[in-house]
Amino acid sequence: MSDRYQALANSPLAGGVVKRLGLPVPPRLERHEPGKPVASGAVLVGSARGGRLLDPAVEVLRSARATVETDPDAGREDGTRFGALLFDASGIDSSERLRALYEFFHPVIRRLAPSGRAIVLGARRDDLADPRAATAQRAVGGFTRSIAKEVGARGSTSQLVAVAAGAERAMESTLRFLLSTRSAYVSGQVIRLEATGPEAIVVPDDWERPLAGRVAAVTGAARGIGAAIAETLARDGAHVISIDVPGSGDALSEAANRIGGTALRLDVTDPGAPERLVDHVAERHGKLDAMVHNAGITRDKTLGRMSEEQWDAVLAVNLTSQEGINAAVLERDLMGAGGRIISVSSVSGIAGNRGQANYATSKAGVIGIVDALAPVMRERGATINAVAPGFIETQMTAAMPLATREVARRINSLSQGGQPIDVAETIAWLASPASPAVNGNVVRVCGQQLIGA
Ligand code: NAD
Repeated sequence: MSDRYQALANSPLAGGVVKRLGLPVPPRLERHEPGKPVASGAVLVGSARGGRLLDPAVEVLRSARATVETDPDAGREDGTRFGALLFDASGIDSSERLRALYEFFHPVIRRLAPSGRAIVLGARRDDLADPRAATAQRAVGGFTRSIAKEVGARGSTSQLVAVAAGAERAMESTLRFLLSTRSAYVSGQVIRLEATGPEAIVVPDDWERPLAGRVAAVTGAARGIGAAIAETLARDGAHVISIDVPGSGDALSEAANRIGGTALRLDVTDPGAPERLVDHVAERHGKLDAMVHNAGITRDKTLGRMSEEQWDAVLAVNLTSQEGINAAVLERDLMGAGGRIISVSSVSGIAGNRGQANYATSKAGVIGIVDALAPVMRERGATINAVAPGFIETQMTAAMPLATREVARRINSLSQGGQPIDVAETIAWLASPASPAVNGNVVRVCGQQLIGA
């Protein structure tokens, strides 16, 4: 669905009027294209005293062939902007020392390029015995979320990556994702990295095809976000099994054929669905590296007007089906070390939403699955995470009433809806064998939506 207001606000004729009226001008977000460099300009790096993350982060930047800059005045005279600002805050252990954030960012924040990235690396609070250190690290999240709101008008984003002791060498896939245009619609997030053994860290031969040789299944893949996920995982090298209801007709086979994958017609609420899915995978591939639960429906009504059928259908598709499939996949031992389960939740599941008691319950339940299974997956050397999209331009949101849709598009720091590719890129990062430290996270793909933030 096209965003007419965004096109209008950026047009030479009407754009001036929009600005004079003080209305938001949704910036054009840069998105990934094959071969595009990870960072779109030099990355200015800095660290608070005692930090342990700058060296490994600079190693990542060098491996990604980014230009690393340590001089905040570099390029000031000729007006060059930084592609990204990266600061190691892990050494900040008291409220007084939070000032290091101000000192690093204040002189340069206005020199961040459009679609630029501000990234702060921090410690995990559960690693810190000292209450003052834990307090200071909690405070850093308030800083990155505010910066995200300030730079959003230019299409830039800001995140905090909280790195556990022992996860220092496992930052590469996450930093590459957050620095790049793949994370165009992800902002104001806190990503938590867990410690992993060195044997778990996989460095892909080709960062453009990290999923080469892997098998992924995606539910609800005939259209919308699911089709984009399947396409993106295939682009990254995976063989994709695209799953959708028997009624999805030619759309499913066309989507699967386009990416050289397999189509599996399956209603995920069918009592035999988990068995059929694992049989299919076992017979054809003998393993499943990534299971993406994307199939979802809405049946919106305020609770007093909601029928039993509307409640049951939403819970069955969005939540119960995922539990059944996960149990079958894990029981059959199709997913070993390096396995990935990724569920599509929703900002409604975090914040609740009027008229969506059924949907928000199911999507909060999805987060519950992630919480409950994260330790189980860790034991196996595997991971589980969820993405929580905000407003994404699909047929689901095209069906919203006009006024509601227009408001939903604008109430985020980037003043626009996301695209299915934004959710898909986030899932591709989580699905990567290079992401073993990302476990138990719920990553919002919402342009930092104001609701439930
Ligand atoms: P969509 O309606 O365009 O696509 C959903 C797909 O799931 C369809 O192809 C449908 O046939 C399939 N599906 C539905 N029931 C199924 C079943 N029982 N078995 C197998 N497949 C089934 O929706 P979308 O906008 O692409 O949403 C995809 C996911 O993202 C959903 O889980 C949705 O809740 C979530 N989400 C979407 C948005 C948004 O703004 N579009 C926001 C937050 C979350």
